[in-house]
Amino acid sequence: METSRAWAEVDLDALTANLERLRRRIDSSVALLLVAKADAYGHGAVAVAHHALGTFAEAIGVTNCAEAMELRQAGIRARLVVLGPTFVEEAPPAIRSGVELCVPSIELGQHLGRLAEQLGKPARVHVKVDSGMGRLGVPPERALSLLETVQRSPFLELAGVMTHLAATEGAENAQAHEQMATFERILRAARGRGLLAGREVWIHAANSAGVLSGLNPRYDAVRVGIAAYGIAPDPRLATEDLHPVLSVRTRIVHLRDLRAGQSVGYGGTWVAPRPTRLAILPVGYDDGVAWRLSGRGSVLIRGKRSPIVGRVSMDYTTVDVTNLPALSLGETATLVGADGAERIRVEEIAKLAGTIPYEILCQIGKRVKRTYVGGPVRTPRSPARETVPG
Ligand SMILES: *Cc1c(COP(=O)(O)O)cnc(C)c1O
Repeated sequence: METSRAWAEVDLDALTANLERLRRRIDSSVALLLVAKADAYGHGAVAVAHHALGTFAEAIGVTNCAEAMELRQAGIRARLVVLGPTFVEEAPPAIRSGVELCVPSIELGQHLGRLAEQLGKPARVHVKVDSGMGRLGVPPERALSLLETVQRSPFLELAGVMTHLAATEGAENAQAHEQMATFERILRAARGRGLLAGREVWIHAANSAGVLSGLNPRYDAVRVGIAAYGIAPDPRLATEDLHPVLSVRTRIVHLRDLRAGQSVGYGGTWVAPRPTRLAILPVGYDDGVAWRLSGRGSVLIRGKRSPIVGRVSMDYTTVDVTNLPALSLGETATLVGADGAERIRVEEIAKLAGTIPYEILCQIGKRVKRTYVGGPVRTPRSPARETVPG
């Protein structure tokens, strides 16, 4: 029996199944880069990356050098790509350990070239082109100069050329087509000048939305995050193909009977309309229960939905269990995931809380222990085995 106050159960077999389904949507020549930034969207980057690389993924993408180094230090030797800009002072360990860095400007390219020279080891870089996202990346009119800067520098090795889509529904959106046309124009011009030569240069553009919406071309790699975790990036791309990987569970820490007319929690926002039995759960917004679920969300106890009443606080959530048979302390409550035939999906919570599924995943707090189920028997180096429940 689980003895934690709250735990996130990561189903590695569901991850495998999602990666396999995504793999089937792309050519076998296209590499699958699993995006494992933000601790693999709250799933635990080390265990997820190890597992993905052992099944259907060829490379891992992260946001910063610290995330990349965490994976290198955990023994991951596959291609690791930092997907956004780096502060120069963060880069030395990453360059030394062959982590591939993103170069979104000529200035950063020059800085990294000089740094790599000092370190005596070339930096492998992905040139990031802003084809319309308007955030990171070199503007189209300067993309060729940046590629020339990389080519001229003896201490920069071109590892990739990338762009990122703004449209959350991918290929269904006209802006995605404009972005791809801009990117394509740059690639053609760059090829014409011999700027894309090199054996391991990956051209990549598609994220989950790109893959699920059939965005073409796929080029050499796709960067898949949320879909691998079993969640559609946009309701318009929902598909039966994806299995939720993460469940979040907790245990009833206290039971309380209220008289009709008694209020619950901060602000007294909910008043018991009848004699009410409450189950108090030891999780609140610090643990990732969105405050916006106050008075609207529900949790699963004994396979049934019980409504959240009153405000979610930092440490506690109160649910009305009047309609359930007598419950005991320590019984499991499911905040995300399945219990019997019922399931609460991250998408549902995001909608209720007025946010996107990505944010719900990333908010799962430090007090929630990550546990792993399924997957192959792991080598002692992997942390997965140590945290398998039971
Ligand atoms: C986060 C990210 C991705 C993955 O996005 P999903 O929508 O989760 O698939 C891909 N590329 C870049 C550059 C990213 O930052």
